[in-house]
Amino acid sequence: MTAQTIRETSQASRVGPATVGISVNGLTHRFGAGRQATLALQNVQLDIAPGEFHCLLGPSGCGKSTLLYLIGGFIPVQEGTIRTARGAVTRPGVDRGIVFQNFALFPWKTVRQNVLYGMENLGVAKAEREARAADLLAMVKLEKFANHYPSQLSGGMQQRAAIARTLAIEPDILLMDEPFGALDAQTRSVMQEELISIWQRTGKIIVFVTHDVQEAVLLGDRISVMSARPGRIETIVSCDFNREKGSPVRRAGEFAEQVQHLSALMHQQALT
Ligand code: ADP
Ligand code: MG
Repeated sequence: MTAQTIRETSQASRVGPATVGISVNGLTHRFGAGRQATLALQNVQLDIAPGEFHCLLGPSGCGKSTLLYLIGGFIPVQEGTIRTARGAVTRPGVDRGIVFQNFALFPWKTVRQNVLYGMENLGVAKAEREARAADLLAMVKLEKFANHYPSQLSGGMQQRAAIARTLAIEPDILLMDEPFGALDAQTRSVMQEELISIWQRTGKIIVFVTHDVQEAVLLGDRISVMSARPGRIETIVSCDFNREKGSPVRRAGEFAEQVQHLSALMHQQALT
């Protein structure tokens, strides 16, 4: 394990406020009240830089989705703060787009209509939204399937359509909750490559939830390893070598070392 490839950053070396894309401070979250309450997150501290691909990695039930939905503004903050470049997060906003595991497309709309939907709501002019939809469908390689309904597509194609639909509203931040979890291994691998290429082209912040160590190491600039419930950020691991995403280096020793290192951390979490 070399110092260049793996840097475990302490809270003291967090990204400063001037460069913050997302800043989570003292975030604690409970479901329910009284003795029945579930403490899902406890004092989460996390700063994500502009343009960063950040993975949230942890065992099932550790609060990954809760943290993601809080950042999205889909559930209200109880204790602590979340800030983005646009200020404190208090509700959903068009600066934050989300992609779920189960695709969540409108089944009664075609692929093209699904992609157009958010832009219509935002009042984007017709010519502009048609052009943007065409570009996005080309980007996710679905231009030939624009007039198909979701039920006519494979899982991988549906998820590409869901990603295009979310990108159409031009969010600064893309939140992804185990988006490839329901796909077969081969489709998943293709989708991971495509997501890296979309991220490289758009420069967005991506916050990507996964419980799969290999997926986290493959995709993340940095990986937050979360503890078992109540969820806290145990460690943040940097994967410098991932800057060269297309490079075969990630199939080589450094990749395997990083996977092994994180698997050991995950194992500890499962035992504590
Ligand atoms: P993960 O995504 O890491 O699997 P979640 O964020 O979904 O974990 O859940 C964290 C904890 O909070 C779990 O114990 C889960 O049962 C609980 N939880 C999540 N959502 C709710 C809810 N709406 N009501 C009650 N408990 C919930
Ligand atoms: Mg989840």
